[in-house]
Amino acid sequence: MSMLQNTDPLTGLRRMFYAVTPNETSFATTDEVPDYINEAIPYFAGAMLLELIVSIIEGKVDERGSLADSIASVTAGLFMLSMGAMIKGFEIVAFVAIHRHYSLMNLPWDSPWTWIMTFLALDFMYYWFHRMAHEVNFIWAAHQTHHSSEEFNLATALRQPLFEVKWMFNATLAFFIPPSAIYVHMQFNTIYQFWIHTRVIKSLGPLEYILNTPSHHRVHHGRNRYCIDKNYGGTLIIWDRLFGTFAAEQDEEVVYGLVHPIQTYDPITHQLCHMQWMWQQFWLQQGVVNKLYVILKGPGWEPGKPRLGDIQDIPDIKYPMPKYRTQIPVWCQVYVAIHFLLNVIAMDMYASKYEMHTALVALIGISFLIYSFTCVGALCDVKSYASAMELIRCVLVLSMDAYITRSMPDYAVMYYYQLVVLRVAFGLSALIWIPQVLINGKKKVA
Ligand SMILES: [Zn+2]
Ligand SMILES: [Zn+2]
Repeated sequence: MSMLQNTDPLTGLRRMFYAVTPNETSFATTDEVPDYINEAIPYFAGAMLLELIVSIIEGKVDERGSLADSIASVTAGLFMLSMGAMIKGFEIVAFVAIHRHYSLMNLPWDSPWTWIMTFLALDFMYYWFHRMAHEVNFIWAAHQTHHSSEEFNLATALRQPLFEVKWMFNATLAFFIPPSAIYVHMQFNTIYQFWIHTRVIKSLGPLEYILNTPSHHRVHHGRNRYCIDKNYGGTLIIWDRLFGTFAAEQDEEVVYGLVHPIQTYDPITHQLCHMQWMWQQFWLQQGVVNKLYVILKGPGWEPGKPRLGDIQDIPDIKYPMPKYRTQIPVWCQVYVAIHFLLNVIAMDMYASKYEMHTALVALIGISFLIYSFTCVGALCDVKSYASAMELIRCVLVLSMDAYITRSMPDYAVMYYYQLVVLRVAFGLSALIWIPQVLINGKKKVA
């Protein structure tokens, strides 16, 4: 998952908008297909910085997002990338196996017509996957993570679920289409959907008829009544126009996020909260049929209601709609930003040597990274136990450092300066949290 890749800037920029030619993006085998999503990461970061600068100039930086919300979104994106790196092999193997043994058509991988057909077919499948993700509760349980932010900015695009069934929809294409072409287009379909998560771009004129745009996607993320279950398209909006799920953006200000916001920055809750709710509903409902309906009907369904629920059950919008925001002291915001970046660097270093780790080291590393991002979430939520969690994390890092330095002296010499920085950062951080933990402990005793 190393984020430092060499792509020439113009090519990198074109890829963000799917502006690539069949000639440069057609391959005989899946092994030859570049990791386009990985190579797009620096462009994602650059675009987010640009969006921040524009928002500062327009005086809307507070209105359009918050540090805690963006960190929560990027954390979900990092989880998804890590999970994607682990399961990518299985997806590709499935595509290749289906195509080799059950293909109904043998399209040439190097024909521009194959490229165009794959582009359309994959976007069509994306529409149906996305529609099912909103209309079938157990698929929504994963997809809701993407909608859990009350903000709508480029960071929101990165807020992705860990587990999705999208690959199963894509796998059906392997009956007709070479796996290398599927793998190329599924990456571009994902990358294209990054830049449409912004409030900075208002309208794209005639392109709004054909393409999925920021305006259409703002509607998709809205919780105003007219926005519910609308605009499922990936790259093209024509599918929504064809199948009756299109809604144009109206003058009424769009309010973003889940119909019932979850009010936390905890990355685990963002992934699992709806699963937990569904589990409770499953056991609450009477009879096998109703239990099955909890899983298979829409998230708004309950006995006696239509399959997708009653639109009148969607809560009214009363402006100004309050958003979930916590009062994080400025020093703590700086602390969170620094430690979040350290987590990202640690994750990148860890993932780049992923194949070298034993199963036990891999498990310890992943658990520790999840714990680290959970600590960041707890600090952003201003939880009373956050200081204790963070102190434990600092002590764990310093203990790991002491163990590695003693058991692997060569390693300690090779990374001498990095380890000095790490010791200073985590040593000072531990000193910050010790008095906080003592104060909180006294408060509890009193
Ligand atoms: Zn959606
Ligand atoms: Zn979105």
